[in-house]
Amino acid sequence: MKYQPIIGFEVHLQPKTKSKMFCTCSAEYFGSQPNSHTCPTCLGLPGALPVPNKEGLEKCILLALALNCNINKTTKFDRKNYFYPDLPKGYQISQYDVPVGEKGFIEFDIDGDSRRIRITRVHMEEDTGKSMYERKKTLLDFNKSGVPLIEIVTEPDFVDVKEVDKFAKRLRQIVRYLGIGDADMEKGQMRYELNISLKRPGEKGLPDYKVEVKNIASISVLKKIIVKEIKRQSKMLDKGETPRQETRGLRNMDGDTVSQRVKEGSDDYRYFPEPDIPPIFISEEWLDDIKKDLIELPQEKKDRYIKEYDLEPDSAENIARNKARASFFEACLKSASKVEDINEYAQEIANWILGELTRLKKKNDVLYKDLRVKPEDLLELISAIKTNKITGTIAKNVLEQTFKTGKSVETIIEDKDLEVVNDKEQIEEFIDKAIEDNPKVVKSLEKNPNAIQFLVGQVMRLSKGKANPKLAEKMLKEKFL
Ligand SMILES: [Zn+2]
Repeated sequence: MKYQPIIGFEVHLQPKTKSKMFCTCSAEYFGSQPNSHTCPTCLGLPGALPVPNKEGLEKCILLALALNCNINKTTKFDRKNYFYPDLPKGYQISQYDVPVGEKGFIEFDIDGDSRRIRITRVHMEEDTGKSMYERKKTLLDFNKSGVPLIEIVTEPDFVDVKEVDKFAKRLRQIVRYLGIGDADMEKGQMRYELNISLKRPGEKGLPDYKVEVKNIASISVLKKIIVKEIKRQSKMLDKGETPRQETRGLRNMDGDTVSQRVKEGSDDYRYFPEPDIPPIFISEEWLDDIKKDLIELPQEKKDRYIKEYDLEPDSAENIARNKARASFFEACLKSASKVEDINEYAQEIANWILGELTRLKKKNDVLYKDLRVKPEDLLELISAIKTNKITGTIAKNVLEQTFKTGKSVETIIEDKDLEVVNDKEQIEEFIDKAIEDNPKVVKSLEKNPNAIQFLVGQVMRLSKGKANPKLAEKMLKEKFL
């Protein structure tokens, strides 16, 4: 590509809290009757005083820690002044010069390459109300007004869509892993604001313009916008024009945008300290208490799985991605701790979890917390295959039975008489029957030795999958080849 994309984000995330950020109204407003979650504070009535929500602030601090930020020992709230009908106070309570956290980063891998995106700041603020337009009227719903928002600002470090995709998914994982929020994009709990420009060849520093796109509530749309914006800006630069410094709005879900507001210089919000909320001191004790919730994150888990268990990188990534799945995997490893070669088992466990178990879970719409398959069952299943007690095909069947009934793998193998037939005499009987049924195939063996596989298949079919396939093949080969 001729031009180098320079991409940065502001992400707005709704932490899961019982009440709004500065009043006691319930923050779970989604789907409620308009204006049913309001009080004088979030309606911005004169004389109402804001009281910060400790839970919201703690989640903001936890996220800042997870994003490797420095935490400011004393933080404060500021008023961001602007006029808009869904902002009844005429200002938004936000944070200006002393955010909760600064100078962090997020790391992930792309095709085995480690990448790092710098986080400029993480701060706490409140959401606005919602304007709805109906014919010539504007309707206002203040249920969302005052709902806590964590804002994450990145440096313009992204150079392609792949990085954006990884970052967005990793950030959402971290938020869900730590229980900070559900990050349900369909409910608007995580929204992206994109800024993008293109650097001309040889251009020093950042480009002399920046295009913003606000309110993006889907990662796939976000990627489409970037691809289209790179095309649009490239065309202009090709003609020797400079794209305008502007805010563009989303026109459709295909990522098409339209100019909304041309910006000259930066906005002046006349920030000043919020006089109704004293500065907040974050003590070491408080910080230590919050750090207790800072559990191992997906990237750390992935790295550890590869290092400790020699797991294939793709398997490690897919296991670590989902917290419940990772917990199940680790529980399996724990019950496998007595086996000799844990690494050999670890990969097998991962394969079964990502393959057959995931398939059964999806098909039957079952969550890990409701799973009837126990970690010991999976271990038992893998051991049974390794010791030739059952075949791989039978094993799938056994897992499905355990999945449905909750009976242990051992019980099912015994009850259903599913053990592999290793008895030569019994296999010989199946072989005789297969020969008798397929005289033409037997005749063709001289010219086509591969036809032996067909006979092995027949033996497996006749034995209902129980014959030891390797033994059957060996016996057939001894007979004919
Ligand atoms: Zn309220």
